[in-house]
Amino acid sequence: MIKVEHVSKHFGGVHAVNGVSLEVNKGDIVCLIGPSGSGKSTLLRCIHGLETVDDGAVYMDGELMDPADKAKYREQRNRMGFVFQHFNLFPNKTVLDNCTLAQMTVLKRSREEAEKTALEYLDKVGLLDKKDSYPNQLSGGQKQRVAIARALCMNPDMMLFDEPTSALDPEMIKEVLEVMKDLGRQGMTMIVVTHEMGFARHVANRVLFLDQGHLVEEGDSEAFFTNPKSERAKDFLSKVF
Ligand code: ADP
Ligand code: MG
Repeated sequence: MIKVEHVSKHFGGVHAVNGVSLEVNKGDIVCLIGPSGSGKSTLLRCIHGLETVDDGAVYMDGELMDPADKAKYREQRNRMGFVFQHFNLFPNKTVLDNCTLAQMTVLKRSREEAEKTALEYLDKVGLLDKKDSYPNQLSGGQKQRVAIARALCMNPDMMLFDEPTSALDPEMIKEVLEVMKDLGRQGMTMIVVTHEMGFARHVANRVLFLDQGHLVEEGDSEAFFTNPKSERAKDFLSKVF
Protein backbone atom coordinates (compact mmCIF):
# COMPACT_ATOMS: atom_id res chain seq x y z
CA MET A 1 0.00 0.00 0.00
CA ILE A 2 2.86 2.37 0.92
CA LYS A 3 6.37 2.00 -0.33
CA VAL A 4 9.14 4.28 0.89
CA GLU A 5 12.29 4.22 -1.19
CA HIS A 6 15.58 5.63 0.10
CA VAL A 7 13.91 8.64 1.66
CA SER A 8 16.14 11.32 3.16
CA LYS A 9 15.27 14.57 4.86
CA HIS A 10 17.65 17.24 6.18
CA PHE A 11 17.00 20.22 8.38
CA GLY A 12 20.04 22.42 7.89
CA GLY A 13 22.93 20.23 8.92
CA VAL A 14 20.72 17.63 10.61
CA HIS A 15 20.13 14.46 8.63
CA ALA A 16 16.77 13.68 10.25
CA VAL A 17 15.93 10.72 7.97
CA ASN A 18 18.76 8.99 6.22
CA GLY A 19 18.03 6.71 3.26
CA VAL A 20 15.06 4.86 4.74
CA SER A 21 13.17 2.24 2.74
CA LEU A 22 10.14 0.35 3.95
CA GLU A 23 6.87 -1.16 2.87
CA VAL A 24 3.50 -1.14 4.55
CA ASN A 25 0.90 -3.56 3.27
CA LYS A 26 -2.85 -3.45 3.58
CA GLY A 27 -3.92 -4.45 7.10
CA ASP A 28 -0.44 -3.97 8.57
CA ILE A 29 -0.04 -2.37 11.95
CA VAL A 30 3.49 -1.05 11.95
CA CYS A 31 5.10 0.65 14.94
CA LEU A 32 7.97 3.07 14.49
CA ILE A 33 10.10 3.11 17.60
CA GLY A 34 13.44 4.56 18.58
CA PRO A 35 15.05 7.17 20.80
CA SER A 36 13.96 10.79 20.83
CA GLY A 37 15.36 12.62 17.81
CA SER A 38 15.85 9.44 15.77
CA GLY A 39 13.64 10.71 12.93
CA LYS A 40 10.35 8.92 13.64
CA SER A 41 8.13 11.99 13.30
CA THR A 42 10.00 13.26 10.27
CA LEU A 43 9.65 9.91 8.53
CA LEU A 44 5.93 9.76 9.30
CA ARG A 45 5.49 13.34 8.10
CA CYS A 46 7.37 12.54 4.88
CA ILE A 47 5.00 9.62 4.27
CA HIS A 48 1.99 11.85 4.78
CA GLY A 49 3.43 14.72 2.76
CA LEU A 50 3.56 17.10 5.71
CA GLU A 51 7.25 17.35 4.81
CA THR A 52 8.67 17.13 1.32
CA VAL A 53 11.50 14.64 0.89
CA ASP A 54 15.00 15.76 -0.15
CA ASP A 55 15.81 12.47 -1.73
CA GLY A 56 14.01 9.22 -2.51
CA ALA A 57 10.30 8.72 -3.04
CA VAL A 58 7.05 7.55 -1.51
CA TYR A 59 4.66 5.38 -3.52
CA MET A 60 1.03 4.67 -2.80
CA ASP A 61 -0.38 1.57 -4.43
CA GLY A 62 2.54 1.63 -6.84
CA GLU A 63 2.03 5.27 -7.83
CA LEU A 64 4.56 7.99 -7.03
CA MET A 65 3.41 10.62 -4.56
CA ASP A 66 4.56 13.69 -6.40
CA PRO A 67 3.84 17.17 -4.96
CA ALA A 68 4.13 18.62 -8.48
CA ASP A 69 1.11 16.57 -9.55
CA LYS A 70 -1.12 18.65 -7.30
CA ALA A 71 -4.59 17.17 -7.76
CA LYS A 72 -3.42 13.60 -7.57
CA TYR A 73 -1.13 14.32 -4.64
CA ARG A 74 -4.01 15.84 -2.72
CA GLU A 75 -6.13 12.78 -3.42
CA GLN A 76 -3.34 10.46 -2.26
CA ARG A 77 -2.83 12.48 0.90
CA ASN A 78 -6.55 12.42 1.63
CA ARG A 79 -6.41 8.65 1.78
CA MET A 80 -4.25 8.91 4.93
CA GLY A 81 -5.56 10.10 8.27
CA PHE A 82 -3.06 11.73 10.62
CA VAL A 83 -3.32 11.90 14.40
CA PHE A 84 -0.97 14.27 16.24
CA GLN A 85 0.49 14.09 19.72
CA HIS A 86 -1.23 17.36 20.65
CA PHE A 87 -4.59 16.56 19.02
CA ASN A 88 -4.70 19.72 16.85
CA LEU A 89 -8.44 20.17 17.30
CA PHE A 90 -10.02 23.50 16.36
CA PRO A 91 -10.50 25.09 19.82
CA ASN A 92 -13.35 27.39 18.76
CA LYS A 93 -15.43 24.62 17.20
CA THR A 94 -17.59 22.01 18.85
CA VAL A 95 -16.66 18.34 18.71
CA LEU A 96 -19.26 17.81 16.00
CA ASP A 97 -18.02 20.75 13.92
CA ASN A 98 -14.43 19.54 14.31
CA CYS A 99 -15.59 16.30 12.71
CA THR A 100 -17.68 17.78 9.91
CA LEU A 101 -15.53 20.68 8.68
CA ALA A 102 -13.06 18.81 6.46
CA GLN A 103 -15.75 16.49 5.20
CA MET A 104 -17.64 19.48 3.84
CA THR A 105 -14.68 21.53 2.59
CA VAL A 106 -12.43 18.76 1.28
CA LEU A 107 -14.85 15.98 0.36
CA LYS A 108 -17.71 18.38 -0.53
CA ARG A 109 -20.20 16.43 1.54
CA SER A 110 -23.45 18.10 2.55
CA ARG A 111 -23.78 19.13 6.19
CA GLU A 112 -26.39 16.44 6.69
CA GLU A 113 -24.18 13.72 5.29
CA ALA A 114 -21.13 14.99 7.19
CA GLU A 115 -23.03 15.03 10.48
CA LYS A 116 -24.33 11.54 9.94
CA THR A 117 -20.79 10.27 9.38
CA ALA A 118 -19.43 12.28 12.33
CA LEU A 119 -22.05 10.92 14.72
CA GLU A 120 -21.30 7.40 13.59
CA TYR A 121 -17.58 7.76 14.38
CA LEU A 122 -18.11 9.72 17.58
CA ASP A 123 -20.27 6.82 18.68
CA LYS A 124 -17.49 4.41 17.76
CA VAL A 125 -15.00 6.21 20.00
CA GLY A 126 -17.58 6.51 22.77
CA LEU A 127 -18.09 10.28 22.64
CA LEU A 128 -21.52 10.78 21.12
CA ASP A 129 -22.64 12.59 24.28
CA LYS A 130 -19.83 15.15 23.83
CA LYS A 131 -20.82 16.24 20.35
CA ASP A 132 -21.78 19.77 21.45
CA SER A 133 -18.81 20.27 23.78
CA TYR A 134 -15.76 22.37 22.96
CA PRO A 135 -12.27 20.84 23.09
CA ASN A 136 -11.34 22.69 26.30
CA GLN A 137 -14.24 20.94 28.05
CA LEU A 138 -12.72 17.52 27.33
CA SER A 139 -9.98 15.48 28.97
CA GLY A 140 -6.83 14.74 26.99
CA GLY A 141 -7.98 11.20 26.28
CA GLN A 142 -11.33 12.47 25.03
CA LYS A 143 -9.62 15.06 22.82
CA GLN A 144 -7.48 12.40 21.25
CA ARG A 145 -10.49 10.16 20.64
CA VAL A 146 -12.21 13.09 18.91
CA ALA A 147 -9.09 13.58 16.78
CA ILE A 148 -9.21 9.92 15.80
CA ALA A 149 -12.94 10.13 14.99
CA ARG A 150 -12.32 13.27 12.95
CA ALA A 151 -9.65 11.50 10.90
CA LEU A 152 -11.90 8.46 10.38
CA CYS A 153 -14.72 10.69 9.09
CA MET A 154 -12.62 11.22 5.96
CA ASN A 155 -12.78 7.45 5.29
CA PRO A 156 -9.01 7.02 5.00
CA ASP A 157 -7.45 3.80 3.76
CA MET A 158 -4.75 4.10 6.39
CA MET A 159 -4.07 5.97 9.61
CA LEU A 160 -0.80 7.52 10.78
CA PHE A 161 -0.31 8.26 14.46
CA ASP A 162 2.54 10.35 15.89
CA GLU A 163 2.86 9.55 19.59
CA PRO A 164 -0.89 9.70 20.12
CA THR A 165 -0.64 8.98 23.84
CA SER A 166 2.54 10.85 24.79
CA ALA A 167 0.72 13.99 25.95
CA LEU A 168 -1.78 12.05 28.07
CA ASP A 169 -1.95 11.28 31.76
CA PRO A 170 -1.41 7.57 32.43
CA GLU A 171 -5.06 6.83 33.17
CA MET A 172 -6.08 8.17 29.76
CA ILE A 173 -3.55 6.29 27.70
CA LYS A 174 -5.52 3.09 27.84
CA GLU A 175 -8.78 4.50 26.46
CA VAL A 176 -6.93 5.81 23.40
CA LEU A 177 -4.96 2.61 22.89
CA GLU A 178 -8.22 0.65 23.09
CA VAL A 179 -9.72 2.73 20.27
CA MET A 180 -6.60 2.10 18.20
CA LYS A 181 -6.65 -1.60 18.98
CA ASP A 182 -10.27 -1.75 17.82
CA LEU A 183 -9.35 -0.02 14.59
CA GLY A 184 -6.65 -2.59 14.01
CA ARG A 185 -9.06 -5.43 14.66
CA GLN A 186 -11.33 -3.96 12.00
CA GLY A 187 -8.48 -4.21 9.53
CA MET A 188 -7.30 -0.60 9.38
CA THR A 189 -3.77 -0.19 8.06
CA MET A 190 -1.78 1.83 10.60
CA ILE A 191 1.65 3.32 11.11
CA VAL A 192 2.14 4.29 14.73
CA VAL A 193 5.04 6.20 16.27
CA THR A 194 4.92 5.23 19.91
CA HIS A 195 6.78 4.65 23.14
CA GLU A 196 4.04 2.24 24.26
CA MET A 197 6.04 -0.95 24.04
CA GLY A 198 3.06 -3.12 25.03
CA PHE A 199 1.14 -1.83 22.04
CA ALA A 200 4.15 -2.29 19.74
CA ARG A 201 4.66 -5.83 20.94
CA HIS A 202 1.12 -7.13 21.19
CA VAL A 203 -0.95 -5.10 18.73
CA ALA A 204 1.51 -4.29 15.94
CA ASN A 205 2.51 -7.05 13.59
CA ARG A 206 5.75 -5.31 12.64
CA VAL A 207 8.21 -3.02 14.35
CA LEU A 208 10.67 -0.64 12.70
CA PHE A 209 13.49 0.62 14.88
CA LEU A 210 15.09 3.95 13.96
CA ASP A 211 18.27 5.46 15.29
CA GLN A 212 19.91 8.69 14.10
CA GLY A 213 17.78 8.76 10.97
CA HIS A 214 18.60 5.20 9.96
CA LEU A 215 16.23 2.28 9.87
CA VAL A 216 18.44 0.03 11.95
CA GLU A 217 16.22 -3.00 12.31
CA GLU A 218 12.79 -4.21 11.32
CA GLY A 219 10.92 -7.35 12.00
CA ASP A 220 7.96 -9.24 13.30
CA SER A 221 7.08 -7.49 16.55
CA GLU A 222 7.26 -10.51 18.84
CA ALA A 223 10.61 -11.53 17.36
CA PHE A 224 11.94 -8.00 17.70
CA PHE A 225 11.10 -7.84 21.39
CA THR A 226 12.24 -11.33 22.30
CA ASN A 227 15.33 -11.34 20.16
CA PRO A 228 16.51 -7.96 18.84
CA LYS A 229 19.39 -8.39 16.45
CA SER A 230 21.22 -5.07 16.47
CA GLU A 231 23.23 -3.77 19.41
CA ARG A 232 21.42 -0.44 19.20
CA ALA A 233 17.99 -2.07 19.47
CA LYS A 234 19.19 -4.23 22.39
CA ASP A 235 20.51 -1.16 24.13
CA PHE A 236 17.27 0.76 23.51
CA LEU A 237 15.10 -2.08 24.83
CA SER A 238 17.29 -2.52 27.90
CA LYS A 239 16.58 1.12 28.74
CA VAL A 240 12.82 1.06 28.23
CA PHE A 241 12.15 -2.18 30.12
P1 ADP B 1 11.69 11.83 16.72
O1 ADP B 1 10.28 11.99 16.27
O2 ADP B 1 12.22 10.44 16.56
O3 ADP B 1 11.91 12.33 18.12
P2 ADP B 1 12.22 13.92 14.79
O4 ADP B 1 11.82 13.35 13.48
O5 ADP B 1 11.28 14.86 15.42
O6 ADP B 1 12.60 12.74 15.78
O7 ADP B 1 13.59 14.69 14.63
C1 ADP B 1 14.73 14.13 14.00
C2 ADP B 1 15.82 15.19 13.98
O8 ADP B 1 15.44 16.25 13.10
C3 ADP B 1 16.10 15.84 15.32
O9 ADP B 1 17.47 16.11 15.41
C4 ADP B 1 15.29 17.11 15.26
O10 ADP B 1 15.85 18.10 16.09
C5 ADP B 1 15.38 17.48 13.79
N1 ADP B 1 14.18 18.20 13.31
C6 ADP B 1 12.92 17.69 13.22
N2 ADP B 1 12.07 18.59 12.71
C7 ADP B 1 12.79 19.71 12.50
C8 ADP B 1 12.49 21.02 11.98
N3 ADP B 1 11.25 21.34 11.58
N4 ADP B 1 13.49 21.92 11.91
C9 ADP B 1 14.74 21.61 12.29
N5 ADP B 1 15.10 20.41 12.78
C10 ADP B 1 14.16 19.47 12.88
MG1 MG C 1 8.60 12.66 17.28
